[in-house]
Amino acid sequence: MSAIHKHGSEEQKTEWLPQMAAGEAIGCFGLTEPTAGSDPGAMTTYARRDGSGATADWVITGTKRWIGLANVAKVAVIWAMTDDGVRGFVVPTATPGYTATPIEPKLSMRASIQCEIELDEVRVPASAALDVIGLKGPFSCLNEARYGIIWGSMGAARDAFEDALAYSKERLQFGRPLAGYQLTQAKLVDMALEINKGFLLALQLGRLKDAGTLVHHQISVGKLNNCREAIEIAREARSILGGNGITLDYSPLRHANNLESVRTYEGTDEVHTLILGQKLTGEAAFR
Ligand SMILES: Cc1cc2nc3c(=O)[nH]c(=O)nc-3n(C[C@H](O)[C@H](O)[C@H](O)COP(=O)(O)OP(=O)(O)OC[C@H]3O[C@@H](n4cnc5c(N)ncnc54)[C@H](O)[C@@H]3O)c2cc1C
Repeated sequence: MSAIHKHGSEEQKTEWLPQMAAGEAIGCFGLTEPTAGSDPGAMTTYARRDGSGATADWVITGTKRWIGLANVAKVAVIWAMTDDGVRGFVVPTATPGYTATPIEPKLSMRASIQCEIELDEVRVPASAALDVIGLKGPFSCLNEARYGIIWGSMGAARDAFEDALAYSKERLQFGRPLAGYQLTQAKLVDMALEINKGFLLALQLGRLKDAGTLVHHQISVGKLNNCREAIEIAREARSILGGNGITLDYSPLRHANNLESVRTYEGTDEVHTLILGQKLTGEAAFR
């Protein structure tokens, strides 16, 4: 939705946004490729114009990978290289040449679907193109998702912490609740400190977003920090649950496994570290 909302024509917005907002049409966002993940500028999916002039159709060919909900989506935003640079296209998934195949089995994000999309000469009209050229198109959408993750990762961390806290009060070993041991308290306190810091960071970034002054490296601070801390918190919470922590009766290990995906998508730890390294030093360690 954010790609169409930010870069779509009035016609595209009217056609897609109301039904997507109502949950009647699911969308998907196709940027990553089998050989272009952290480096989407290396994408090989290509859109050529069939004919000349502004009304010529676009014909898209290539492969996308890890695309959430692509096999149940009614519409896909597909990012493809063109002679002018990267462009986005609003592609109804019923268009001939579009095939989405779920990637299975997975050990993380098992409740959602990620797909490989084959685009075999997918023909769309000139009006399917979004009104943006270059990687700033997809990146502007990633910034929205990354901001959401800053909050969501801390939500998972808080749930893991609450499970561990409750368990530690009930579980007796050596005749006392685990919560009564200083080692357990140190774990819980460290977790609570990072959760509170993570939420305060998210709150401050939200305030900057509301004020319209949030910039992309600040989002990297939040995404990098909160995902990294949330995984540590979920793992530490699991340790308090002992053997019971590896069952599905408790949430921490499920959160930790899912957070492995969250740590990877929307820019890996390393990518956000490089963005911040560039901000600090003025030197880009990547292209
Ligand atoms: C559950 C899930 C859902 C996803 N949903 C979508 C989606 O809906 N749409 C979409 O377009 N994509 C989606 N993705 C793809 C996701 O954005 C990519 O997985 C991510 O960008 C990383 O790309 P990659 O997996 O190809 O890893 P790679 O880019 O191959 O990276 C592998 C490792 O190398 C590191 N690395 C890469 N470059 C450097 C460097 N310069 N220096 C140091 N280390 C480096 C990375 O940080 C990582 O640790 C999803 C992924 C997952 C797991």
